[in-house]
Amino acid sequence: MKKKFETEAIRTQMERSQNLEHSSPIYMTSSFIFEDAEDMRASFAEEKERNIYSRYSNPNSSELIAKICKMEGAEQGFAYASGMSAVFSTLAALLNAGDHVVSSKSIFGSTHTLFTRFLPKWNISTSYFDTNDLSAIEGLIKPNTKILYVETPTNPGVDVLDLEVLGKIAKKHGLIFIIDNCFATPYLQQPIKFGADLVIHSGTKLLDGQGRVLAGITVGSGELMDKVYRFSRITGPALSPFNAWVLSRSLETLAVRVDRHCENALKLATHLEDHDKIEWVKYPFLKSHPKYEVAKRQMKAGGCVVAFEVKGGLEAGRKFFDRIQLLSLSANLGDSRSIVTHPASTTHSKLTSEEREAVGISDGMVRVSVGLEHIDDIIADIDQALG
Ligand SMILES: *Cc1c(COP(=O)(O)O)cnc(C)c1O
Repeated sequence: MKKKFETEAIRTQMERSQNLEHSSPIYMTSSFIFEDAEDMRASFAEEKERNIYSRYSNPNSSELIAKICKMEGAEQGFAYASGMSAVFSTLAALLNAGDHVVSSKSIFGSTHTLFTRFLPKWNISTSYFDTNDLSAIEGLIKPNTKILYVETPTNPGVDVLDLEVLGKIAKKHGLIFIIDNCFATPYLQQPIKFGADLVIHSGTKLLDGQGRVLAGITVGSGELMDKVYRFSRITGPALSPFNAWVLSRSLETLAVRVDRHCENALKLATHLEDHDKIEWVKYPFLKSHPKYEVAKRQMKAGGCVVAFEVKGGLEAGRKFFDRIQLLSLSANLGDSRSIVTHPASTTHSKLTSEEREAVGISDGMVRVSVGLEHIDDIIADIDQALG
């Protein structure tokens, strides 16, 4: 019988060993042994499904993959050492020299660098559409376009893209539709329902939610995942059994954690909307968000990230950032600890003001990853820093 999300997150477990442990153990082993010559022959011939070598599979990564597949409604997956190794391995497995990708301007920084600086080494090119203009996508599709790659909500601008519209475009043109679902997690949004072929996560963010491990995962259709798996087991980006174990435990609390993250984030966003030191606030579940209706349709709640513009531009943004006391100044997100970043003076400071505008980052823009501290303390710190 199909069980609810929370139940699957807790009760999807590897087979118990003879010790009848309640919680899954960690299999810190690089390889597995065979009964006899025939067992080893049949295993390598893939006549039986079993663990051979932890670069291919391991009980801890398999447990994690099984959970995420159930959460996303996917058939098969592979777990990676980081979100970026999931992104790179998935693209490298599916793309050939001469292929073309269509993606949005507003996309995770390292993914953007992969598209612009590294994939061209293999003669793979990318065209970008404005996140708020999906009607421009079809004009970018060429005979050699193979993949439509997006994320929603976006980092750091919290723009929302309509998954149903994207799914239809991908289907009409026979493109492989890949979504980085990191900001939403499978608890808030399941892109496969809207036609996504593959879903990628950085497990480093909300999936772990406690800032302990780097991890990544790709899940989706069996046919595509088989290609991704064959490439990945040879090239070696597999997640370690220990990190897989940590992450599988983290998923047991994903629903309750994300509920609180979203509740806190909405309270902060609502509070800032009326603040006289704030130019604008962006959060998918605020009515003022340009894609509020789309967000409501495809997400269960708005996620943990709130973006806002401090009045006074670059200098005001930097001052605000410097006055923060409780919240962490860090580049990560989706942690139990709230984190603030001021992209214009930090991660994107090498760009000119115009270049930043082009990727959706204004000079006074602040991104808060709202954590699990009491909301009154989060708001108090932000208010004193604005004061
Ligand atoms: C962090 C992040 C990644 C990369 O994940 P790592 O685990 O840091 O490699 C990819 N996409 C998005 C949207 C992210 O926020």
